[in-house]
Amino acid sequence: HLPGTLKKKFITKTTSQVHKLPKFTSPLKNGEYNKDTINTKRNKPSPDVEYDEEIDERLKNVDPKMIEMIQNEIMEQSPNISWDDIAGLEHAKKTIQEAVTWPLLRPDIFTGLRSPPKGLLLFGPPGTGKTLIGKCIASSSSLTSKWVGDGEKMVRALFAVARVNQPAVVFIDSLLTQRTDGEYEASRRIKTEFLVQFDGVKTAGLEEDRILLVGATNRPQEIDEAARRRFRKRLYIPLPEHDGRFAIIKNLLLKQKHSLTDEQIHEICKKTTGYSGSDMDGLCREAALGPIRVISDIRTISVDDVRSINYSDFIDALTQVRASVSDRDLELYEKWNLDYGSLS
Ligand code: ADP
Repeated sequence: HLPGTLKKKFITKTTSQVHKLPKFTSPLKNGEYNKDTINTKRNKPSPDVEYDEEIDERLKNVDPKMIEMIQNEIMEQSPNISWDDIAGLEHAKKTIQEAVTWPLLRPDIFTGLRSPPKGLLLFGPPGTGKTLIGKCIASSSSLTSKWVGDGEKMVRALFAVARVNQPAVVFIDSLLTQRTDGEYEASRRIKTEFLVQFDGVKTAGLEEDRILLVGATNRPQEIDEAARRRFRKRLYIPLPEHDGRFAIIKNLLLKQKHSLTDEQIHEICKKTTGYSGSDMDGLCREAALGPIRVISDIRTISVDDVRSINYSDFIDALTQVRASVSDRDLELYEKWNLDYGSLS
């Protein structure tokens, strides 16, 4: 058993999820976002979840308590994120459609040479949308199992449950690169179990095993060769370009009272080169506080009297919220992308 401290640290740092995917929503439809489908889906209640009373062959050698833990946490999920919410990253979206969505929809066509990757790694600076994409890949799932790491047995149980629930997406973050001294042994064993299970998906699976492991990391250089090899698709998720930043601001201002023209938003985009998606989010939040700061009595003012967010709120916010990713880090990601990324 793991010593208490190690275990605790691991639990707080590592989360994984199994998503059962009755159907995938395509990130792109004829080159455009598929807004209608997503909206209809959002309004539909998720189908009820039922489990076979009989124990599945694949779960036979797994600790029933762990299966129960994982299954108890599988719950109805109303997807609260869609591809539309992810600005920019057209290349990543297109690649995911080809490499992930289509094969999972039509396993009969994607066999042999066309067989899809079992592992997809999303790497890049923090706050660029990797987790959003992970969630989106599973956005039409009716089931989500939040799983908190608890040793390699739990990893085994996780994959067993994923097999029973396939097509499924197992989403892991942080696990791949945990490397502090004390944790090393524990995380090494868990990592090894992940690799074993991962290879199990590949060989034992044949045609019908449809499990996709999606990994997300800010530190790809710390993934060892063995793990790296398993992720056949390795997608760089870079900082947003001007257009991406524009879309993020527009999207965030959508439901706010504001007076910004498109020209002004373009100006802000010019001033935010190097900002990540989450930096942009922080900037907009800061700007949105501008109108609040000039209120003399917050207790009595009516909502209608709160003035619109304007350009100078953003200019002020720019002095408070700076780009969080350094040029040096960016160079590292770009180099790793050239060395190991799936460039096409
Ligand atoms: P990470 O790449 O570290 O996994 P996340 O996907 O968790 O980053 O993004 C963090 C937050 O930053 C999101 O919740 C969202 O508000 C914002 N964000 C990041 N990238 C984008 C993007 N491409 N489009 C829209 N919002 C984004």
